[in-house]
Amino acid sequence: MSYVFYQGEIVKEEEVSISMRCKAFNYGLGCFEGIRAYWNDEKKQLYVFRLREHYERLLNSCKALYINIPYTVEQLCDYTLELLRKNNFKTTVYIRPVAYKGSNELFPTVYDDDNRVLIYCQPMGNFAGKDAFRVCVSSWRRISDNMIPARTKPTGGYLNSALASLEALQNGYDEAILLTDDGYVCEGPGENIFIVKNNKLITPPPSDNILEGITRDTVMRIAKEELGMEVVERSIARSELYSADEVFFSGTAMEVTSVVEVDNRKVGDGKPGKVCSQIKEQFFGLTTDNNPKYSHFCTPVY
Ligand code: PMP
Repeated sequence: MSYVFYQGEIVKEEEVSISMRCKAFNYGLGCFEGIRAYWNDEKKQLYVFRLREHYERLLNSCKALYINIPYTVEQLCDYTLELLRKNNFKTTVYIRPVAYKGSNELFPTVYDDDNRVLIYCQPMGNFAGKDAFRVCVSSWRRISDNMIPARTKPTGGYLNSALASLEALQNGYDEAILLTDDGYVCEGPGENIFIVKNNKLITPPPSDNILEGITRDTVMRIAKEELGMEVVERSIARSELYSADEVFFSGTAMEVTSVVEVDNRKVGDGKPGKVCSQIKEQFFGLTTDNNPKYSHFCTPVY
C-alpha cells in the first residue's frame, strides 16, 4: 500500500480519484517535478537530493502557467519528507509532485481557482537500465520558449518528449536528441546533454530552450570544482556530436548516462568516456551525502 499527498493531506493512494473531465487531463494544464531521494545503506539514511531547488522550480512553473497553489517551498519540502517517512522507504526513491488545474469546466482557460497539488513516490533504481546509450537526432524539434515556456515542466509539453522517445525506440535506438527550431542541439526528451571536446565540457545555454536541469547544474559544478575542467555554455551544432570526444546525458531520472553512438556514428572509441565516468562517480558520492562539501544538497528523511 502506498501513501500519497493530495490537497493538503497524506492519504492512501486508492482514496484519490481524478475526474475524467478534469482540465489537466483534457488539456495538459499542469506542471510537475521529478525528485530523487538516495538511500545510503552504510548510514541507513535516505537523502532527498536538492529538494528545495526542485520546489523552487515547481513554483516557477506554477507562476508561468497561472497555477496558484497555497503552499510555500518550505511547506512542500516538509510534506515530501513526511510522505517519505509515512511510506517508510529504505531504498532509492523517485518523487513526483504535480500541480494542476482540477476544474471540470469544458474549456481550457487557465485562469480559475481550482488549483491542486498531489505528490506520489516510488522506488527507482537505474532508470535507464543500461550504462551506454545509442541515440539518434529526432525528426521532432524541441518546443521553443514562445510556444510553451521552456524553463517550466508543463505536463502538456511532454507530448513533444514522448513523440521523440517513441520515434527513437521504434527505430532501434535507446533515446533521442532534440534540436532547437534553429537546428542546434537542445536536449534529450527528459535530460540535458553535454559534449566533451579537448577536455572542455560544453553544454547548450538556457537561451537554446533547454530546461535548466538541476542535475545539469550539479554536473557543471563537479566538472569545474572537482575535476578542474573548463565548462562552456554555448550553442552546439549537430555535427559536433559526431566529432565529440564524449557525449552524455544528465537528469534526475536518467542520472548521468554515457552516449556511445549518435546516428550510427561511434562517439570517441564507442565506449563510455573517462570524463563521464569521473563525473558519475562524484555524482553518486554527492547524492548519498558522502562528500561533506555538498552536504547541503542532501536532506535527511529519518
Ligand atoms: N530536460 C527535460 C526536458 C527534462 O524533463 C528533464 C528532467 N526534469 C531535464 C532536462 C533534466 O532536469 P533535472 O536534472 O532537473 O531532472
